[in-house]
Amino acid sequence: MRVGVGFDIHPFGEGRRLVLAGVEFAGEPGLLGHSDADVVTHAVIDALLGAAGLGDIGRHFPDSDERWRDASSLEMLGSVRQMLEADNYQPVNVDVSLAAERPRLGSRVEEMRERLASTLGIDPRFVSIKATTAEGLGAVGRAEGIAAWAVALIDRVREPEMP
Ligand SMILES: [Zn+2]
Repeated sequence: MRVGVGFDIHPFGEGRRLVLAGVEFAGEPGLLGHSDADVVTHAVIDALLGAAGLGDIGRHFPDSDERWRDASSLEMLGSVRQMLEADNYQPVNVDVSLAAERPRLGSRVEEMRERLASTLGIDPRFVSIKATTAEGLGAVGRAEGIAAWAVALIDRVREPEMP
């Protein structure tokens, strides 16, 4: 088994949708970024790439590539799953911590877990998403953006036992 860690942060900006773990929060200020700026999914991508020793999100999905402009980050996560599979690895579990003054995730957490889990091909029980505020401290505390940390465990795809 191998473990990886990921971190990401995006600032809020005008005229953007807020997408976290593939779930849209209508009416909330969105985050600036080349893709859909899904800070949660980006942290998960970096954790998985780190676990597999495959570099980072900037290497595989560069800002200079028009293909990823306003792209769904879940689509990128799907590509990462394929990269892992090509190396005979599969995700085991993912744990995310989010620091944000807004939005309140509340009832949307289950939906977020399901989006990530289905993209990764694992049960939602193996995807955890936790949110906290920064208690008014620093850029996140001033509600200038959202930060996310993720840890991911991956394991070799096991061949089915011969009967
Ligand atoms: Zn990002």
